Amino acid sequence: MFEQYIERFLTRHDYKTVELCAALIDMDGTLYDSMPRHAQAWMRMVSEIGIHATPEEFFLYEGRTGASTINLLFNREFGRNATEDEIKELYHRKTVYFTELPDVSPMPGAQKLMQELEAAGLKRVLVTGSGQSSLINRLDNDFPGAFPPDMRITGRDVVKGKPAPEPYLAAMKKAGVSPWESIVIENAPLGVEAGDAAGAFTIGVTTGPLPGKALEEAGAAVVFADMPALAAQMPQLLAEFAKMSNR
Ligand code: MG
Repeated sequence: MFEQYIERFLTRHDYKTVELCAALIDMDGTLYDSMPRHAQAWMRMVSEIGIHATPEEFFLYEGRTGASTINLLFNREFGRNATEDEIKELYHRKTVYFTELPDVSPMPGAQKLMQELEAAGLKRVLVTGSGQSSLINRLDNDFPGAFPPDMRITGRDVVKGKPAPEPYLAAMKKAGVSPWESIVIENAPLGVEAGDAAGAFTIGVTTGPLPGKALEEAGAAVVFADMPALAAQMPQLLAEFAKMSNR
């Protein structure tokens, strides 16, 4: 069933085969059902400083660093970049508003997916544009053993965030793997774009309001309707990869 997706991916990237060793995994909207609250926190912050925005647009910016989102909005509304001090203050304010909202839950299916990846012997690396410790600090509790501190790339570790490939290339370096040994799991178009640009087999999961087409167009090798569906089908997908690398 997944053979055609893998074949298409190999052709597009001019790979002979894929030998999976690592799964590089996004956090917001993938491991945690946190995106609606991020959108709420962004809306509260930007409306205080006279920036016009809609909650939906923050789903499109998902994956960008805080600084990049702030500059995008500043340029649109005020015709200039934000200063370093403004970025620091405004991102802090947004972060505080996020923490004031009720706690977010792990995305349904995410824990099962982590178990499937572990059972398959894949290294797991967290790759998030976020620098928010409120969620990062919960990882050990919600996903025990999945992401040791040296297996995390956050917004603080990169110069150019998603959609640039840098965060995923940095994650590959941490795991000691090549692009053709990696899968990426992402819910946002910019994150999918980053994973594909880094050369990984990028799995898109539509956990929010954006349609699957948005992830396909961003370069997803395959798209799943939600995390439980991905978790349920992961063994089959991994078996298909194993079959390919043995031929
Ligand atoms: Mg995400």
